[in-house]
Amino acid sequence: MKIDLRKLTGSNTVSIPFSETLDLREETLYGAKPFQSPVQISGEVSNESGVLRLKGTIKTIYSTACARCLKPLDILLTAETDMILSDDPETEEEDDLFVLTGDSVDPADVLVPALILQVQMTYLCKEDCKGLCPHCGADRNEVDCDCDKKQIDPRFAALRALLDSDEDKST
Ligand SMILES: [Zn+2]
Ligand SMILES: [Zn+2]
Repeated sequence: MKIDLRKLTGSNTVSIPFSETLDLREETLYGAKPFQSPVQISGEVSNESGVLRLKGTIKTIYSTACARCLKPLDILLTAETDMILSDDPETEEEDDLFVLTGDSVDPADVLVPALILQVQMTYLCKEDCKGLCPHCGADRNEVDCDCDKKQIDPRFAALRALLDSDEDKST
């Protein structure tokens, strides 16, 4: 939804509120499509003594998986912005400055990047998630497989070395 900024600059209107649900299901991030839930945006564009300003909130459920045990995770993600809108194309993009291209602004163009900034590279289901066993694939939060003991038992390692060297001699 585009907001016509001429309504703000050419009249006595001081602010235009917006509220919208975005569909970002096709948006790809880190090789996945994590925005499977509706994305809510709301806020207002205002004219403060000739300075255009967009204040808004964006929120959604970010669908991802624990980086260690791969359990599906739903993360509540929100971001808030308070941006000055500049129509000077010479202005450099800054953290709190959005450069306009024309007489209108789509609040999604301002708010979606702010939401994506909140996304972490990886999430864990819990801080001490033990992850999956690299040998048998068991979820080590739930079962105690004995792969680790097998792998690191030094007696087995010594025996294996012995067997290997015997094999070398016989060939
Ligand atoms: Zn986990
Ligand atoms: Zn295992």
